[in-house]
Amino acid sequence: MIALRGLTKEFPGGVRAIDALDLEIGDGEFFALLGPSGCGKTTLLRTIAGLETPTSGRIEIGGVDVTGSPPGRRDVAMVFQDYALFPHMDVTANIAYPLRIKKVPRAERVAKAAETASRLSLSELLDRRPAQLSGGQQQRVALARAVACRPKAFLFDEPLSNLDARLRLEARTFLKRLQRELGVTTVFVTHDQSEALALADRIAVMSAGRISQLGTPSEVFRRPATTFVASFIGSTPMNLLPGVAEDGVLRVGEAELPLPDGVPDGEILYGLRPEYAELTTREPGEKGAFRGKVAVVENLGTAHLVTLECTGHLLQVVVPEGAEPPPGAAAWAVPRPGRALLYRDD
Ligand code: ADP
Ligand code: MG
Repeated sequence: MIALRGLTKEFPGGVRAIDALDLEIGDGEFFALLGPSGCGKTTLLRTIAGLETPTSGRIEIGGVDVTGSPPGRRDVAMVFQDYALFPHMDVTANIAYPLRIKKVPRAERVAKAAETASRLSLSELLDRRPAQLSGGQQQRVALARAVACRPKAFLFDEPLSNLDARLRLEARTFLKRLQRELGVTTVFVTHDQSEALALADRIAVMSAGRISQLGTPSEVFRRPATTFVASFIGSTPMNLLPGVAEDGVLRVGEAELPLPDGVPDGEILYGLRPEYAELTTREPGEKGAFRGKVAVVENLGTAHLVTLECTGHLLQVVVPEGAEPPPGAAAWAVPRPGRALLYRDD
């Protein structure tokens, strides 16, 4: 288990990269730290690893306070975005390096490296140097180096971001399976919401050194706590439309949407995921639909993203393959019951 208590890291010049963070990561958990560039992800990971000294607060790993311990004493393995392999060493030596630091005898080191390499499908490549490997192979060597020393935790800093799109998906599945097999607590840093949703047991969405929301992938997807989280999560951006609540009805442009009980009057941001509306070209009988004209149809592969031009705003809806209306058609978007999110100012 990893626990962070009031952790703060301030760089000279007053940049607060981590701001009084409290967080507990469970034993064996796959935990994702998700956020835009510059929000403090790398700093947080480096602080857990002992590569940065916190300005204040504490770090516990496995119930032991390691705040003052050097990196070597923390028993965690970090995988960096650029892999940080040693260019002059072959694959065996790279994988065995942490074992050499731990003064494991040479024969045992080589055996461990070979065993780990086989698990990561690297057995054919043991004599090669990093420059003779593809990006995906280098990435697996970096993983193997982390796995070989059987750490208490893996710390991954965007380990898939240097792979091309297809390889990234393969490597993602591979990483998930490996983590399941080994059961090692994992902190995975990424700016890619789809990676976090796909891999993690829980996600912390970060913004400016703080946690905006902590939850399971389905919690942060279905119930984003703030408009920041709402606009950050999801493969298509959430519709966020300004509306006015009055007497139990929300007016968004021309649309009149029923509100749940107890919503006070006033300005509201109406949030609706493009996946959570049906599109129809026949006027629906019930109230609470958005009427508009199809402005753009984008092919997503197995679905289409339709942009509806309504009076005063644009609304995007994901439509199943084959059901997309032609551009220019009149259409209605009917929100699925219970799926809309209402936000006041964050
Ligand atoms: P992320 O990994 O989420 O992109 P970082 O942790 O790299 O974010 O950076 C968080 C903030 O801390 C940024 O504003 C960055 O400029 C600042 N920062 C990071 N490292 C240093 C450093 N060594 N010295 C000064 N500022 C830094
Ligand atoms: Mg970073």
